[in-house]
Amino acid sequence: MRGLVIKNTGSWYSVKTENGQIIESKIKGNFRLKGIRSTNPIAVGDYVKIITNQEGTAFISEIEDRRNYIIRKSSNLSKQSHILASNIDQAFLIVTTNYPETSTTFIDRFLAGAEAYRIPVILVFNKIDLLSQDELHYQKAMINLYENIGYKCFEIQANAKEATPFNSNLLKPLLKNKVTLLSGNSGVGKSTLINALLPHIKLRTASISNAHNTGIHTTTFSEMLEIPEGGYIIDTPGIKGFGTFDIEKTELTSYFKEFFKFSKHCRFSNCTHTHEPGCAVRKALEEHYIAESRYNSYLSMLEDKNEDKYRAAF
Ligand code: GDP
Ligand code: ZN
Repeated sequence: MRGLVIKNTGSWYSVKTENGQIIESKIKGNFRLKGIRSTNPIAVGDYVKIITNQEGTAFISEIEDRRNYIIRKSSNLSKQSHILASNIDQAFLIVTTNYPETSTTFIDRFLAGAEAYRIPVILVFNKIDLLSQDELHYQKAMINLYENIGYKCFEIQANAKEATPFNSNLLKPLLKNKVTLLSGNSGVGKSTLINALLPHIKLRTASISNAHNTGIHTTTFSEMLEIPEGGYIIDTPGIKGFGTFDIEKTELTSYFKEFFKFSKHCRFSNCTHTHEPGCAVRKALEEHYIAESRYNSYLSMLEDKNEDKYRAAF
């Protein structure tokens, strides 16, 4: 039987079959995945085949090829990684201009990582109700910047009641029939948004974040929350960005989408856009075709690469 892994609690996997049944399954002891050294061979989002033995226990016998997957390195030293989720259609990055302020470096690192994984990102600016006129203007400028690069942006108030035009229902059409990863710094309103979008799972979300706060929560636990209209939200605690450890220095430019049309005119094909003569990216920066904040984020990622620090970054 074919099914989708929607929950992983360590030793058990909840598999939703095509007829809508949820079957608690185990992995066969000798289950191995070629090419990936991970602490968990199966993750939420995986499509699998299950077989049932004579005692009635269900086992995952096969996993279908993944379109993509996101991992977390277990540690700096070990080559082992933990697969957090697979077959992701898009990510919503929840950000706040204030309360708390999400830095542009954080946003740009996330976007670059998502480009590397080929996961489209939609930027969701939350807590619009709390912003002053100046902050609203600043936020509009940010939205302008990111929309010009090609990222869709939304402004919402996740805790809004029906009447406001910034109700999170704005996002519903985008979620339909897709697997969406919700990310963002702590405190930006992810749980509030999940509660607003999926009121039927309210209690469960609350208990997940409580467990998280008291440290009971383990990172091996992740789940996909089913949207009644079709689709899933991936609620994996601790996803703040994508590992960029396998990005080559010269590759980094291509993950800053708007740099590309300039970088192909740099004098040197392996230009890092820092000190090289004839650098078209730095020229574009001076002429304000590239935003300073974006260039600074690029530099900070490049710096990490120089120091090899990026291996620990997630
Ligand atoms: P998480 O850590 O990303 O899950 O953030 P939470 O959903 O726990 O939200 C953090 C705090 O911000 C809570 O006190 C929420 O009630 C509050 N909050 C979330 N969204 C909004 C919003 O749009 N406006 C206002 N004023 N507060 C919000
Ligand atoms: Zn250059």
